[in-house]
Amino acid sequence: MSWENNVRKVEPYVAGEQPKNHDIIKLNTNECPYQPAPGVARKAREMQCDDLRLYPDMNAEKLVNALSDYYHVKPSQLFVGVGSDDVLAMAFMTFFNSDKPVLFPDITYSFYDVWAELYRIPYKRCPLNEDFRIRKEDYLSPNGGIIFPNPNAPTGVLESADMIEEIIKANRDVVVIIDEAYIDFGGESVMPLIEKYDNLLVVQTFSKSRAMAGMRIGFAAGSEKLIGYLKDAKFSFNSYTLNMPAIEMGVEAVKDDGYFKEIVNKIIKTREKTKKELKELGFTFTDSKSNFLFASHESVPASELFQALKDNGIYVRYWNKPRINNRLRITIGTDEQMEKLILFLKEYLKKQEK
Ligand code: PMP
Repeated sequence: MSWENNVRKVEPYVAGEQPKNHDIIKLNTNECPYQPAPGVARKAREMQCDDLRLYPDMNAEKLVNALSDYYHVKPSQLFVGVGSDDVLAMAFMTFFNSDKPVLFPDITYSFYDVWAELYRIPYKRCPLNEDFRIRKEDYLSPNGGIIFPNPNAPTGVLESADMIEEIIKANRDVVVIIDEAYIDFGGESVMPLIEKYDNLLVVQTFSKSRAMAGMRIGFAAGSEKLIGYLKDAKFSFNSYTLNMPAIEMGVEAVKDDGYFKEIVNKIIKTREKTKKELKELGFTFTDSKSNFLFASHESVPASELFQALKDNGIYVRYWNKPRINNRLRITIGTDEQMEKLILFLKEYLKKQEK
């Protein structure tokens, strides 16, 4: 008998690379290519080191109130955490405790099965259809909860709020979590539905559209009852999660709606332009409504392109997994970064033709 028999063994989530070399074009982890709102930097300069002596507000009230004003939901309907990964991990632990399987798509955020394994939650992957769309019927069978991103990742495919409402309506006896990490890039949020369905949890993040991946801020909106259970679990685990600078700077990001809209619109514009250019080069892709594209080339395998791009300082994401092993997930950067990507691909593909 070894102590190792009593270890909770897990196969961890593999995040995209964060290379030390900053001299690359980094299109591999869906970060925002623009700076956070100017108020964030201002706040960082104003902060006094002395403030760090004290524990932060464990309720992150300032940030919760800012989100409450912005999204028109009560503070008691909001939960904040250290990135949406923290919020999602807490939600899995709190809400998915059934013997029936939790349902999520076969192609989706690859952290979901990791949390399910970590917490010993039974789960079932529901195959997306040929066009990478969610099949509503799959979510109508008995289950222990439902989670999927909208738009989905890494496909970028957006489902309608109406379709999601039908799924929630048919699953009133379990918690349905909609992970809206990428919703700001052209989708309709189902956050208003939290007033109607007390079993709906909507999760969002500051990491993409608010350009603050490094600060680690995520949040969830749901009924008071749902949020209450989430808080009980959190305060039984680690009370002080969000640190003081994150709370203060997060507030600044939420306050500057003009800047938020400006950078989101810039990314959407660049995305649509990049779609046209990639199409001309022989790529096909989903009609992504996120800040990334999920593209496949008509003749050159994705694995080869991934390596060639990397060797030339352009990082994108590639998974050698069933159904998606001929696709590249390309984060939308600045116009300039995308032009460099297109230029490289143009030249590389021309060489392949010879
Ligand atoms: N959900 C999805 C679908 C994601 O792609 C990501 C980013 N990896 C997250 C949640 C987590 O993001 P964060 O923890 O930075 O908020």
